[in-house]
Amino acid sequence: MTSLGLIESVRTTLVDLPLARPHRFRDTTMVTQTVLLVRVRTDDGVVGAGEGAVPGGPWWSGESVETMKLIVDHYLAPLVVGGELSRLPALRARMDRLVAANEFAKCALETALWDAWARILGVPLASLLGGRFRDTIPVTWAIGADDPDVVVEEALAKAESGHASIKLKMGAQPPDADVARLEKIAASLAPKTSVRVDLNGAWDLLTATRLLPRLQDAGVDLVEQPSPAHDVDALERLAALLRIPVMADESLRTDHDALVLAARRAADVFSLKIGKSGGLLAAQRIAAVAHAAGIPCHGGTGIESGLGTLAGAQLMCTLPAVTYGSELFGPLLMADDLLAEPLDYRDGLLHLPDGPGLGIDLDEDRIAHYARGP
Ligand SMILES: [Mg+2]
Repeated sequence: MTSLGLIESVRTTLVDLPLARPHRFRDTTMVTQTVLLVRVRTDDGVVGAGEGAVPGGPWWSGESVETMKLIVDHYLAPLVVGGELSRLPALRARMDRLVAANEFAKCALETALWDAWARILGVPLASLLGGRFRDTIPVTWAIGADDPDVVVEEALAKAESGHASIKLKMGAQPPDADVARLEKIAASLAPKTSVRVDLNGAWDLLTATRLLPRLQDAGVDLVEQPSPAHDVDALERLAALLRIPVMADESLRTDHDALVLAARRAADVFSLKIGKSGGLLAAQRIAAVAHAAGIPCHGGTGIESGLGTLAGAQLMCTLPAVTYGSELFGPLLMADDLLAEPLDYRDGLLHLPDGPGLGIDLDEDRIAHYARGP
């Protein structure tokens, strides 16, 4: 009989990974990316790994890697130790009953549970999640809120190497100056590649109503989260105003959010992320709502290393609703990773590995090298 996967221990490690270049958001610039590595060990000695990562600090959701570590160590780990992996959804529900919010922390631990369970069963995680719908997923290249010449040079090189779309961060400058910057960039890029922008909720409805049509006219072909997370009214009006799609990111965390956004047609595309939603099970439920509503999904990123990126990719490749590609480019932004082998990026696509669990093993030397001291 297959092992039931009795969980013996949960171990967490903060790991500071170097970036290949700084990544500039609205209010902060990332120069390294710290991730929380969570490892779960079963009574049979099987180890599953998961990752918690946020884009450069607690500005995105309130969580940081340090809060994730504390929540996992003190509150979530005791809920699963002694439990069985064969009852993973029940373990996951227990986390929600005893710990509110803290979705990125829950995702990190849930991913480790999935990885361990898939390894015990000897199947790739995608098989455990229902099987592959696709073997590869397109990867948008994302660039921070930098000057036009820097952005254009990097974007053209990435388009040349096969990335079918480029996503640009906005919101770091006053709105009018930012739009003028984007118009300059789009004049060089839009004829050659798909250009998308992410405002991370920077503009109120009035500003967005005034300026988004200019971005649309400049050739931008998707706008992500123009207005604050709570302002579904603004998203609804902007989605009706624009010809180009509006993608919800910060406004879409739970399956309930998905239901509201879908019912109000307040988003044309959903950005699906396992981290912000608390793991793979929640993201599956959101994708089901999107599927029912006919809303395409996009595989978003919190700039995870190879481990977290693979967890997202294993799920995204099972979901027919993910028709809008992904931005699972985190490992390509990093100068090094925790994996024994790099992920398989070719021609702008991330190719899913075939191995059991997440599909690729960790490199203990690299983990020891980058692990943050006590
Ligand atoms: Mg976003």
